[in-house]
Amino acid sequence: MLLFTPGPTPVPEAIRMAMAGPTIHHRTPEFEAIFKEARTRLMRLFGMDECVMLASSGTGAMESCVTNLCAKKALTVNAGKFGERFGKIVEAFGLEHVELKYAWDTPASVEDVKAALLDDPDIDALCIQVCESAGGLRHPVEKIAAAVKAVNPDIMVIADGITAVGVEPIDTTHIDALIAGSQKALMLPPGMAMIGLSDAAVKKVGDGNGYYFNLASEIKKQRQNTTAYTAPTTLVIGLNKVLEMIEAKGYETFYLQTRARALATRAALEAVGCQLYPRTPALSMSAVYDEEANAVRDILKTEFSVNIAGGQDHLKGKLFRINQMGLIPVHESAWVVNAVEWAYDKLDRRPYDGTASRIFNEVYYANMNGNV
Ligand SMILES: *Cc1c(COP(=O)(O)O)cnc(C)c1O
Repeated sequence: MLLFTPGPTPVPEAIRMAMAGPTIHHRTPEFEAIFKEARTRLMRLFGMDECVMLASSGTGAMESCVTNLCAKKALTVNAGKFGERFGKIVEAFGLEHVELKYAWDTPASVEDVKAALLDDPDIDALCIQVCESAGGLRHPVEKIAAAVKAVNPDIMVIADGITAVGVEPIDTTHIDALIAGSQKALMLPPGMAMIGLSDAAVKKVGDGNGYYFNLASEIKKQRQNTTAYTAPTTLVIGLNKVLEMIEAKGYETFYLQTRARALATRAALEAVGCQLYPRTPALSMSAVYDEEANAVRDILKTEFSVNIAGGQDHLKGKLFRINQMGLIPVHESAWVVNAVEWAYDKLDRRPYDGTASRIFNEVYYANMNGNV
């Protein structure tokens, strides 16, 4: 079965092998050397000067950013499940928040964010997704972050990049916390979250807040190449390996391949009549609005051995989402769009004629060769 869900993503064999060694103790020079390497590479990935790794799923990192970087009131952007989650975290900790709500296909606007901030001077943190995975939507986070800092440089910009870090280069000039998760673009098993931090964020953390997710304790320990509590050693070893693999390929090539695959998939899907859902599609996944989404997913699973994701809430049964994150062999992506074309044939929507794989290959290689 080909795993084409936008998280978890498949773990490449070399990374699985790297994680297959005997367990080593986390308080040893051997592990600290690996930790240091992974940490250095992680800061290069984020393009930021500080970072922490947490033994938790991505939501734990969202929670720790909220509790350590927001003291008064948060502005949360809700254009889907994950944006909604920031609001729920804020509420769970008894903090106040203002929510900007959008349809799941609609990106947040710079003007709305600016207006909300000017309207309420108590807001000291903005929480937003780079890619809102519920609808496969890309928010203009870099522009929004710049606008936030223009209003007040002390407002913390917390960006959930769980389906964006490792997908495309992100300009972190105005971002204070950038969150990544092991099971998405970083091709690792679930269980670790990472946060890139700005100098301003480290200052704002101060003595930290909470206990397990206290960022002050983690920053202090991780600067010494260790963790406050038992490190997820296997995942740190895997992270070090995956970043080594990406660096060997070169970030430029890695991002170019992801982009080419995403654009080729989009073009191929549109060519066979798929309706792309988000107004500003992210590169991490291709989300298609389809009243027969469940039937399409069933055919892909049973006849083509491809597992793709569906929609949630009001989009349950009306959306299918195809992953683009990670080091995906290009023939696998071509197989998936070909399978979607076959599914449309089987559902009597459009006779199969090989359009999807033809367009996929044309667009992919045009992008890879710079002929676009
Ligand atoms: C997957 C995901 C998360 C984190 O989910 P966990 O299940 O806690 O790892 C957060 N934000 C986005 C945008 C995601 O795609």
